[in-house]
Amino acid sequence: MSNLTFTMIKPDATAKGFTGAILDQIIKAGFSVKAMKWTKLSNEQAGEFYAVHKERGFYKELVEFMSSAPIVAAVLEKENAVEDFRKLIGATDPSKAAEGTIRKQFAASIGENAVHGSDSNENALIESNFFFSGLERF
Ligand code: ADP
Ligand code: MG
Repeated sequence: MSNLTFTMIKPDATAKGFTGAILDQIIKAGFSVKAMKWTKLSNEQAGEFYAVHKERGFYKELVEFMSSAPIVAAVLEKENAVEDFRKLIGATDPSKAAEGTIRKQFAASIGENAVHGSDSNENALIESNFFFSGLERF
């Protein structure tokens, strides 16, 4: 089993000044940072990252949102990282997210939901490679 996952702090959360508070919760939950950057996706890059959702009704809105302001991208390490991180962030829709989860605390809506977390070990690798070269991981 892989011990890595990939996350982004999304544009809504960086714009509202939640970056530090979210990172603090991630680190306190036992994840260690293997790579991290503050960056801004172009419309094209956001479209490529979320290509798997191309056929969904919310795709255009998602791509516009994800390229609207800076994000923080990071590779995180912990035992059982993918599953534990999904638990830490909570359900996609913050109104359905469990108490204490990051989305419950910081997300405004199902679209603008503060954080991304990989849904499988395979996607964690693909998503990490989208943002980081081997020289950027420690
Ligand atoms: P998750 O991020 O929890 O893995 P999905 O992979 O299903 O959720 O969706 C990717 C992202 O697309 C979500 O995090 C959210 O930003 C956006 N999204 C998902 N469903 C909707 C929806 N019904 N309306 C608007 N945006 C959505
Ligand atoms: Mg997903």
